[in-house]
Amino acid sequence: MNLSVMRKTVQGALFFLMVYGGYWLGPYTTDKLSKALPALSCAYDPLSADYCALVPLQHQIHHGLERVFAGQMPVWMALLPIAITLGTFLVLFVLFSKAFCGWVCPLGFFQDMLGIIGQKLGLQGKQSLTDSTVDKIRPVKWLMLSLLVFGFPLLAAAGYVDEAWGAPFCAVCPSRIMTTLMTGSTDQLYVDSASASLTGLSIVGVFLFGLVISLGLTVRQPFCRICPMLALQAIFRKVGLLRLVKNATPRCDKCGLCANACPMDIREIHTEMHKHDITYPDCTLCGRCVEFCPDDKVLQLRYAGLPVFSSSSQYFKDRKQSQKQWETISLANLHRKPKAPQEIQ
Ligand code: SF4
Ligand code: SF4
Ligand code: SF4
Repeated sequence: MNLSVMRKTVQGALFFLMVYGGYWLGPYTTDKLSKALPALSCAYDPLSADYCALVPLQHQIHHGLERVFAGQMPVWMALLPIAITLGTFLVLFVLFSKAFCGWVCPLGFFQDMLGIIGQKLGLQGKQSLTDSTVDKIRPVKWLMLSLLVFGFPLLAAAGYVDEAWGAPFCAVCPSRIMTTLMTGSTDQLYVDSASASLTGLSIVGVFLFGLVISLGLTVRQPFCRICPMLALQAIFRKVGLLRLVKNATPRCDKCGLCANACPMDIREIHTEMHKHDITYPDCTLCGRCVEFCPDDKVLQLRYAGLPVFSSSSQYFKDRKQSQKQWETISLANLHRKPKAPQEIQ
């Protein structure tokens, strides 16, 4: 079993746990799981086994600080739950780092599946996003985090914007609609007409969900690129025990196969020749770059400094042979031309 197949298996199993796990664990147990998962496992899915850190953060900022501004609560009492949420997030994040995106997140898996369907339909593979498009999109995740998770809930708490802006990211989050639809419920697929703000936010939410589905067939991981969870993880990425490292010299010849394999179009992994830790802010620790590097031990996934998966010429050859139908995309066809396309055809 190659790493991609192993990852899909883990993602599939965790998708069932995160989307339907409450059915087996019961609402009481699931209510006591972390409540601060570093992945978009949705609190609006009544069967979810755990929920993402963004929902408590928005509500704790909005409702906690609202009471502080109203003089009903001291500041420390409002900050304590926020600190507990961030602390829980941090403990989990230290253990599994950005692998919460590449291996756990239900919306990440959903987009992976859309990508495979897109490949089957021949909609993916001719070109990826251009470097300049990637550069333009990258800052959006920071705006999403600072405005929708922290900024507007704070403004709602202070009374500058109405209550609808207390949890604005949840209002537009595609995971809310996707995971609830997966449980057979259409409860979250609606346009809320209760106020102008709610109408606007819910229209954006439905539009974004449709965009994720349509773009997901042609572009790899479209929502991940603007996801505020990716930004929140990026802030703490230096403390995660799982890292992507590069031993560049003298074996890396900048062939570009790793960057072409990367679902987040992180081209720096093939051009970087000096840094050892190359866990970039957009990395989801999926490991595909390591799989597609044909040079021994140039790229590695390391846990607490110990190599857990290393690139190797033998693995590279074996992987080509065992490549499944759903991975038939020819990396050599992507827009960056690797120097040694014969290695992967
Ligand atoms: S709507 Fe999105 S941000 Fe809110 S709890 Fe669900 S997954 Fe998390
Ligand atoms: S970046 Fe993608 S995989 Fe990570 S939490 Fe967001 S949607 Fe999920
Ligand atoms: S850099 Fe490597 S591990 Fe990170 S997202 Fe890209 S392919 Fe996956």
